[in-house]
Amino acid sequence: MRFYSLMLTATLAACLSSCAGKPQSDTSLKTSFAATMPSAPGLKATDPVALSPVAWVRPRNPAGLAGRDIEVSSLEDIALANKEVVLSFDDGPVPGKTESILATLDEFGVKATFLMVGEMAQAHPAIARKVAAAGHSIGSHTFSHPNLRAIAFDRALAEVSKGTNAVAKATDTDVSFFRFPYLADSPRLRHLLGDRGMVIMDVQIDSKDYFKDAPAVVASRTMEAIRHRGSGIILMHDIHRRTASMLPALLTQLKAEGYKVVHLVHKKPAAKTMLLASLTH
Ligand SMILES: [Zn+2]
Repeated sequence: MRFYSLMLTATLAACLSSCAGKPQSDTSLKTSFAATMPSAPGLKATDPVALSPVAWVRPRNPAGLAGRDIEVSSLEDIALANKEVVLSFDDGPVPGKTESILATLDEFGVKATFLMVGEMAQAHPAIARKVAAAGHSIGSHTFSHPNLRAIAFDRALAEVSKGTNAVAKATDTDVSFFRFPYLADSPRLRHLLGDRGMVIMDVQIDSKDYFKDAPAVVASRTMEAIRHRGSGIILMHDIHRRTASMLPALLTQLKAEGYKVVHLVHKKPAAKTMLLASLTH
């Protein structure tokens, strides 16, 4: 019995660290990463370049990656054009790693969406506030990161509310975005949260940064997925050192290939605002 309990604990720990929890099936990942190499004339941005320390050199002028702001009241409002991406970070905040990611985003002048776990925000409120103060969009990711599909509806709803309240308290700001842990949603929960004005953040490009790969492998894999799809919401995690390490190279490459990082700005749905106004008068 104890053995099975240990097994369950280990499995849960592995799941928690993997968030989306999908098995890694692509074993043919390229380990090269096309870098911005101003010293290599004639080299196209998309040419495969063997990963070298040069790939990790910060550009002299990192500006130009920031795209437009999109006002969103629901997921349907996130209509991305070709070469537009949204950066999203789940599971934090954590000391060191989240701050490193904030510094990189600031260096490139781009905004991301942070889907915080309630108990993490509660444990590290100063970092949570720093994320919000930097102008990034704030969302919640439940209180303790359970699989909401695997628990009773009422418990799932309580987890969402507790998580959202904890993140709102820690960041002292509106929490309008939500992402399901392990992307394990249910139509009933989606519908209810949508009715409450939450924007459910789905994922179109999974960095799979929860696998214990080298930062360069994560950057390469993510870049390949972005090129394949052309645009989309990118899932990353600010709890991993490898994610913080690879982010400058990923953003450098995105800029070199003409991508724009779009900033999602939550906007209260007009109908609901009107309804609220009529109720208060
Ligand atoms: Zn997660």
